[in-house]
Amino acid sequence: MTNNERLRFAPSPTGDLHVGGARAALFNWLYARKTQGKFLLRIEDTDRERSTEASLKSILGSLRWLGLDWDEELVFQSKRGELYRSAVEKLLESGAAYRCFCSKEELEAERERAQREKLDYHYSGKCRNLGKETVESYVREGKPYTMRFRVGEGETSFDDHLHGVTTFRNETIGDFIIARADGSPVYILSVAVDDADMGITLVMRGDDHLSNTPKQIMLMKALGYEIPRFCHLPQVLGQDKHKLSKRHGAASVLEYEKMGFLPGAVVNFLALLGWAPGDDREKMTLDELIEAFSLDGLAKKSGVFDLQKLEWLNGQYLNDMPPEELLPLVSALFVEQGFIQKDEVDSRRDFLLGVIIQLKERCRLIPEFAEKGAFFFRAPESYDEKGERKYFNDIEVADRLEALADSFESLEIFDEASTEAATRQVVVNYNIGVGKLIHPTRLAVTGMTTGPGLFELVTLIGKKPVVDRMRRAAEYIRKNSEETNG
Ligand code: GLU
Repeated sequence: MTNNERLRFAPSPTGDLHVGGARAALFNWLYARKTQGKFLLRIEDTDRERSTEASLKSILGSLRWLGLDWDEELVFQSKRGELYRSAVEKLLESGAAYRCFCSKEELEAERERAQREKLDYHYSGKCRNLGKETVESYVREGKPYTMRFRVGEGETSFDDHLHGVTTFRNETIGDFIIARADGSPVYILSVAVDDADMGITLVMRGDDHLSNTPKQIMLMKALGYEIPRFCHLPQVLGQDKHKLSKRHGAASVLEYEKMGFLPGAVVNFLALLGWAPGDDREKMTLDELIEAFSLDGLAKKSGVFDLQKLEWLNGQYLNDMPPEELLPLVSALFVEQGFIQKDEVDSRRDFLLGVIIQLKERCRLIPEFAEKGAFFFRAPESYDEKGERKYFNDIEVADRLEALADSFESLEIFDEASTEAATRQVVVNYNIGVGKLIHPTRLAVTGMTTGPGLFELVTLIGKKPVVDRMRRAAEYIRKNSEETNG
């Protein structure tokens, strides 16, 4: 491992940060941190039509949310036109580039011919050897031209970290455009200039850029730059083994944030999509990831995005988080749901922490705290249907609920021990199994058939609301039974 590597992530601000991009950013970040190097951000915003300020904000927001901080100033390609133009100028002067006066129609005709002959198309090189005087007169006439790179003979090779030695025959590439007729540089020229100017030592990016690499290398060589190392990452795939996209559901980091995933879990999950620590650890913090990260742990095969695994991992994170840390997230949700007022959060802190403690091992996502915990704040509006059929099916249940409600009401201290003792006493009085009382009571108090331990939850909800709910359920059972019987 080399020290002080300079890595970069180079998003185009044309949408939110997608999962594949986030994973590339993460690997670059991890390697930079691992080598005490730098992680730089370059905003590839030369496509003025598709680049937006909103996308830029969203991408930076997602990187921050994931905890991927960057070093040095942001580099904006849109502000570096001069640099690119002077590189093009330099290439022209050295003869590595030339002006191409071919019109769109001429190029189209070339392309069609190649298609008819079933050949891979690349530019014929028609303007490659125009005489100096011809060029000068065309320029004088104001004939529009693009700039093309003069691809030499032979082949271009590089030793990609994951793909191994990768060789392209130059003749299959053809003289490619580096600046458009309006003088603006094309993507590949900007990338070559920027990676050199930013001192990037390792270019780690998606393997959809593999075929750009020989061009980038040719340009860098012609400009006298040092060639960085390359590592092209396999794509992230959906469960159907096709490249992950919107079709598979949420494809951007922002969507996972909105769904209530924790950044730590998402980062951890992304790291394991195409990298392994070399042992069987699954849950790792950012620091542990940095510690364990090495390029050798990167996988050659594509990682498959398994949402269930992400949910499972998120559940592990939730469960391991101290309740105090979950408090801001969960109370914000409760406020949003109207369970409590914003100004009550402080005064009801202990109650809220209690709710979190009881629920956290049962939730995989933050929003589930609202689904699974509404009953802590309000009486159930209805009862679970199956539960009703199973536990509210007998008029005697109403009597037992009333009996337990009476007993609860008379308790001076309403805590886990006293409520459990009261329950056991009623069970003995009626000579029934404990489940015959516990299940209906849970349904009466929470409206659900599963959840935290009954005595814990009734204690937290408090005597009065619990007793009220039990009496209401008893009434409900009686009413239903009257309706069915007569
Ligand atoms: N802007 C390119 C993209 O978003 C990245 C180019 C690169 O990493 O070299 O795909």
